[in-house]
Amino acid sequence: MQTVRQCEALQGQCLEWRSQGLRVGFVPTMGFLHEGHLSLMRIARSRCDKLVVSIYVNPLQFGPGEDLESYPRDEEGDAAKCDQEGCDLLFLPHSLYSEGHSTRVRVEGLTNRLCGANRPGHFEGVTTVVSRLFGLVLPHLAVFGEKDFQQLAVIRRMTRDLGLPVEVVGGPLVRDLDGLALSSRNAYLSTEERARALSLSGALRAMAESGIQDTSDLLRLGHGLLEVDELDYLEVLDAETLEPLEVLDRPARAFVAARVGRTRLIDNWAL
Ligand code: AMP
Repeated sequence: MQTVRQCEALQGQCLEWRSQGLRVGFVPTMGFLHEGHLSLMRIARSRCDKLVVSIYVNPLQFGPGEDLESYPRDEEGDAAKCDQEGCDLLFLPHSLYSEGHSTRVRVEGLTNRLCGANRPGHFEGVTTVVSRLFGLVLPHLAVFGEKDFQQLAVIRRMTRDLGLPVEVVGGPLVRDLDGLALSSRNAYLSTEERARALSLSGALRAMAESGIQDTSDLLRLGHGLLEVDELDYLEVLDAETLEPLEVLDRPARAFVAARVGRTRLIDNWAL
C-alpha cells in the first residue's frame, strides 16, 4: 500500500491507473477507522481494481464549538487496517485547500432537514470536500455508509446534478453487537453514557418492530424510549425524498440525532 500526502501525487497515480483501463474505487473517511469503514472498503474492493481510501478531518464540515480539535485520530492504526483490507493507496493530506480556496458546493432542499437544520453549513462542507476529492481521485465508484443516510442522499444528488461520472454506492449501517451504530465518536462515551446511547438504536428498533402505521404514534413511542441529554431530532421521513410522512404508505425511515453527555450521535432505521 502506498501512502500519499500530496494532492498532485494522488491525482497523478489515479490518472495513471485510469489510463491503464483500471477501475478505481474510493472510500473517503475522517479516520479512527472501525468495522463500518472497513465494510465500505470491502464493497469498493470487490468491485474495482484499485482501492483508494482517504483520511481527512475536514474543517469545512465542522461548526464553531464542534469537535474538530478533539476528533479522535490514530494514523498508524488506521494505516494498518487499510493495508489489511487490500487498500492500494491511502491518502493522508495535511490540507486539501490551497491558500485562498474560495469555491463551495451546496445542494439545496435535501440539506434543509435533519442534520442540515441542526448543523448549519455542515453539508456544504461535506459536498465541497467530496467534490474536491472526486476531482483528485477521479474514481469510477465511491462508497458511502447508510449510517449517514442524509449525507449519502446529498452526495447522490450532487453527483447527479453535476453530471460527475462517479457511481455512488451506499453501504449498510454496521452496528456493534448490542445495536449501537458504530461511530468514531463512540470513543468519547463513558460507560454510563454508552449504556444510554443504546437508547437511540433501541427506540428506532422498537418503532420499526411496532407495526404502527401512523407517524405521530410512532414518534410518541420513540420519544418515550430515548434516554438522551438533548434531542436534536427524531423524525420519520420518506426514504427517497426525505420529506415528512403522515402514514407509512411507502418506504420510510426513522432518523435520530441526540447528545449523550457532550457527544452528538446519529442513527437511522428502515421502517
Ligand atoms: P466518517 O469517517 O465518520 O466521515 O465516515 C466515513 C464513511 O464511513 C461515511 O461514508 C460514513 O457513512 C461511513 N460510516 C461511518 N460509520 C458507519 C457505520 N457504522 N456503518 C456503515 N458506514 C459507516
